[in-house]
Amino acid sequence: MDYRCSQNRYDHHPLAWRPVPFSRNEPLGFDLEIFTDGSKLNGQVGSSAVVFYHGREIQHSVCRLPDHASVFAAEIKGMDMAFTIVKGLTIWDPVRIYTDSLSLLQALASTVTVDPVVWNLKKQCLELMGTRNLRLFWVKAHVGVTGNEAADQYAKAATTRPSIDVELLKTVSDFQREVKSELVSLWQTRLVQAETGRQTAKYFPMVDFIPKLFNSNIMQIITGHGRFPYYFKRFNFLHTDICRCGGFGDANHYVYECQCTFDLRSRLQFDPAYPPSLFEAASNMEVLNAIVTRVVGFLPTL
Ligand SMILES: [Zn+2]
Repeated sequence: MDYRCSQNRYDHHPLAWRPVPFSRNEPLGFDLEIFTDGSKLNGQVGSSAVVFYHGREIQHSVCRLPDHASVFAAEIKGMDMAFTIVKGLTIWDPVRIYTDSLSLLQALASTVTVDPVVWNLKKQCLELMGTRNLRLFWVKAHVGVTGNEAADQYAKAATTRPSIDVELLKTVSDFQREVKSELVSLWQTRLVQAETGRQTAKYFPMVDFIPKLFNSNIMQIITGHGRFPYYFKRFNFLHTDICRCGGFGDANHYVYECQCTFDLRSRLQFDPAYPPSLFEAASNMEVLNAIVTRVVGFLPTL
């Protein structure tokens, strides 16, 4: 799959390095004024550009972007549609474009950018400014500027269009997020299918990147690797894997059923049918620690 890679200034003619200036004025209500906006709503993304001629709306463009697009990408697309409209205009009045996206205007106002989409937008803008009386303005969002409110409404409505109107290459950060989620899914599959690590999977059936920080006693319960008769027998440190109470002495025995740990076990708050719940209540940690400390005392020191 293709990803959007970053570009440096030498991929572009120095004329494209010129910053695109913007100012901070309210719309005037005459000439051609175009308002653009981008919106993300319920995980769907839309852009708009609305044209006002002497204060009256005469035209608009909308577009729905892929769901992975950012609001910034939507703002860029809105501006891109405004430029397309300007290119097609046969009215030669001055044109003012308004957006409430300061970050977009700042990206255009900087001499260089790494985003190829911003490069492209900047080139279009500089080209248009060579032939048109065109200026860019920042307008504050949600203060009742009519044109901006209209653009906002159109962009929000565009998010609910039945299908995606333009494809958009994913960014490197999209790529990293996808790799990570793919990794978790592989890891999860492996955990489910593995024959080792069964004890840990019992308590932590879902993998994630959050480190599990427990003390060494509690880790013995989580992994099953510790000073338990079962584990000692396995390595021939003991002749029997039976607990002094007569039960099978693995880690779970002391948490679930051992007579010798009954007084401690009864303080644990969890659902025995759902082992992961053992690690949900913070108060259980102290109890588990005490259980392991006691069990360790049952066994000979090696
Ligand atoms: Zn026991």
